[in-house]
Amino acid sequence: MLIVMKSDATDSQVEAVLRVVEQLGFRGHPMPGATRTAIGVTGNQGAVDPSHFENLAGVAEAIRVSKPYKLITLDLRPEKTVVRVGGDATIGGEELAMIAGPCAIESRAQAFAIAESVRRSGARFFRGGAYKPRTSPYAFQGLGEEGLRILADVRDAYGLKIVTEALDEAGVDLVEKYGDMIQIGARNMQNFSLLRRAGKARLPVLLKRGLSATLDEWLLAAEYVMAEGNYQIVLCERGIRTFADHTRNTMDLAAIPAVRRISHLPVIVDPSHGTGKNFMVTPLARAGVAVGADGLIIEVHDQPEHALSDGAQALTLDQYEELVREVRSIHEVITPAPVG
Ligand code: PEP
Ligand code: MN
Repeated sequence: MLIVMKSDATDSQVEAVLRVVEQLGFRGHPMPGATRTAIGVTGNQGAVDPSHFENLAGVAEAIRVSKPYKLITLDLRPEKTVVRVGGDATIGGEELAMIAGPCAIESRAQAFAIAESVRRSGARFFRGGAYKPRTSPYAFQGLGEEGLRILADVRDAYGLKIVTEALDEAGVDLVEKYGDMIQIGARNMQNFSLLRRAGKARLPVLLKRGLSATLDEWLLAAEYVMAEGNYQIVLCERGIRTFADHTRNTMDLAAIPAVRRISHLPVIVDPSHGTGKNFMVTPLARAGVAVGADGLIIEVHDQPEHALSDGAQALTLDQYEELVREVRSIHEVITPAPVG
């Protein structure tokens, strides 16, 4: 059920509708927009009778939702969501969001060297795993909480917003303590207890697409987070598994306009995991921006040859600087000039 309020509906009318939703045992999700507020209703198993709401003051219409998602859709919120990170940084606004940093935090010296450089070349966000989801249990698993402490120090030193992965529910507590944005990795996209926990978190969520997830599955994972009350979600296309073996994953850039058609959530591109190869990262980053991504997440290392994870796809500091130059000019070309 989607309840659309009249454009002149008052806050107290919205609250009165929310009370009725709650009395019926459901949850209401108010989404204020530029022209009107809409309220998404979740928690109902079957259809809800629109007549519960149609005659309440300030209600324009109550619409049954036939699609599988209720909260991520443009029906609920026709304007794009701008996700706010760490107070003053945004993803989904006019500026192209650049998230850069190593695959894993390996040492204080490594993290600081990379952070200092990517900040100079124009990153607002610093990425780096403290807890790594590795295919082999014998591979480097990350520095754990020590890695998070280093990330918090990077934020203090350089003002970069920290994006880092939570592998499990306890990991969300830790990212809330040290970071600015909770990354949910591809392998965890359908870890429903983790999604629910992230939905109760006070930080925005970066939700990677699962290795073999369809668009619907990915959007429904976002729906899990939103249904718990966290509406600050950024989707991330990071490539999917196909028969192609010339890349680590196959970047599905058509996912960007496909998401746009359905959802108000921002969507960014990860050409590092999407290709797995250093020489492909910049070309696919350009393509991601050209196709309309709200930002990029790029793995960068000061010594890629010595990286403890994902060295083959890491850009050098200089390569990252050049990438930023290139994608910025593409972003300028495709951004419509302000009218007037
Ligand atoms: C990562 O960002 O380092 C990572 C593990 O990504 P993904 O979950 O997309 O594989
Ligand atoms: Mn990685």
